[in-house]
Amino acid sequence: DGVVYSQLRRACRVMLLVNPQSGRGQALRYFYGHIEPMLTEALVPYTLVITEHQNHARDLVRETDLSQWDALVILSGDGLLFEVVNGLLEREDWEEAIQTPLGILPGGSGNALAASVHHYTQSPPVWGEELLLSCGFLLVKGLVSRLDLVSIHLASSRRIFSFLSLAWGFVADVDIESEKYRHVGAMRFLVGTLVRLASLRVYQGRLAYLPIKDGLLPNQGPRDHATPSTPKQGPKSSPNQNCCHSSNSTQNTAPNSSNNAITTMTAGPRPANQKGPPDSLLPDLEQPLPEHWMAVEEEGFVLVLAMFQSHLAEDLLAAPGAAADDGFIHLFYVRAGISRPALLRLFLAMEKGAHLAIGCPHLVYEKVRAFRLEPRSSEGAITVDGEVVEYGPVQGQVHGGIARLISG
Ligand code: ADP
Ligand code: MG
Repeated sequence: DGVVYSQLRRACRVMLLVNPQSGRGQALRYFYGHIEPMLTEALVPYTLVITEHQNHARDLVRETDLSQWDALVILSGDGLLFEVVNGLLEREDWEEAIQTPLGILPGGSGNALAASVHHYTQSPPVWGEELLLSCGFLLVKGLVSRLDLVSIHLASSRRIFSFLSLAWGFVADVDIESEKYRHVGAMRFLVGTLVRLASLRVYQGRLAYLPIKDGLLPNQGPRDHATPSTPKQGPKSSPNQNCCHSSNSTQNTAPNSSNNAITTMTAGPRPANQKGPPDSLLPDLEQPLPEHWMAVEEEGFVLVLAMFQSHLAEDLLAAPGAAADDGFIHLFYVRAGISRPALLRLFLAMEKGAHLAIGCPHLVYEKVRAFRLEPRSSEGAITVDGEVVEYGPVQGQVHGGIARLISG
């Protein structure tokens, strides 16, 4: 039961959002060539929405009557899903809205979540249109599991939600730089990496984090079904899966984050965005951090990368042990002093997720619940889910499993 689409169940009504500009501008061709035939054959009713501009999807999901939809599916890069997640969490009924199953089909140049979802099925890696077919198959299968989101506070006290990554330094610069190579598709990150290596620089700033032992155990706190309270080690299918058809019967109480507070802070700051879960682990961005946080000694970095899923790009397995709802922020940083060849070796090893095994003394990896980054360099960039956000101090905390994802 709940494994595949059943003739006995009502079909899943899908809103399929396509960004025709994503990647090499092929998303509509992918839809008609691959996805439409699959949905038709599987008798999945869907409505196609072609986005016309940036934030179109965000505005649409913020306003739409969600009772009409059993799933919101994105055929684009990660940027369009970022819009959808944030649109859902800007609603008055965010607690219910964020329970809407979300699906991802790779149509962009940055398809990190799609690659992560495929990786979680433990299938051998695939790229390009094969990845699209794999994700299309998962979509028609319709299994839903939990997805972590990370609440991110920006200097303007705006708050955004991320499902994928926050990057500063080298990786953020590659994200931005590689925009001009988007005509090469997913290869743009490799090209961008090589270009950036030539102008490698050090970024000054301070980094601190809340180690996992001081936060909650993942999956703790109320859930709408029983979940194990032990951390999951590496990719494997989540036990708390349902078919997206049955979303109506399984949708009841959203996780109540106020019960998730640790002892020192219960209310949490409420930044400009009043909707969404309160951040019980974070003081205001201007306030000092509690004593049990760890401050990183170094102040010179080549990169800081907080990963919330396994893949940073289709061919970059940055956090090999990550799972969709492990409740962890996988925090990486590379200290200043690394040579160009060593940094290149790291990124080449990352293709297979082997970068942690090559004994690079400049690379540090921690599993954390929350982090704060205060850049000192006046020039630089921060990206969240591959999108540029305002530059300045930033902090984030994980909200384990508050969203739902169609996955294997
Ligand atoms: P890619 O992986 O190719 O970058 P994304 O899905 O990340 O694809 O989309 C890139 C950017 O385009 C995102 O910021 C997204 O919000 C924006 N966007 C969405 N729809 C449109 C559209 N119709 N025209 C232009 N930009 C759009
Ligand atoms: Mg993008």
